[in-house]
Amino acid sequence: MICEFCGGETQARKVKRSHWLQGRLYIVENVDAEVCQGCGERYFHATTLDAIDRHLSMEHEVKETMNVEVVDIAA
Ligand SMILES: [Zn+2]
Repeated sequence: MICEFCGGETQARKVKRSHWLQGRLYIVENVDAEVCQGCGERYFHATTLDAIDRHLSMEHEVKETMNVEVVDIAA
């Protein structure tokens, strides 16, 4: 597809995505995306995002857990 920000060509790739579901943050690996070769913008199909929601809602394997810092840039 064509990037809507820079007009560059996108390429199908597997990416790591931070994904919120019901107030919880997940890092999901090997997510299908279209990545712009010009500006790096990533596009996800709605069906891909729905599939992640379904996967996380069911019993699933957890590869690792990590602590995440929450920072207020104005503080
Ligand atoms: Zn772009």
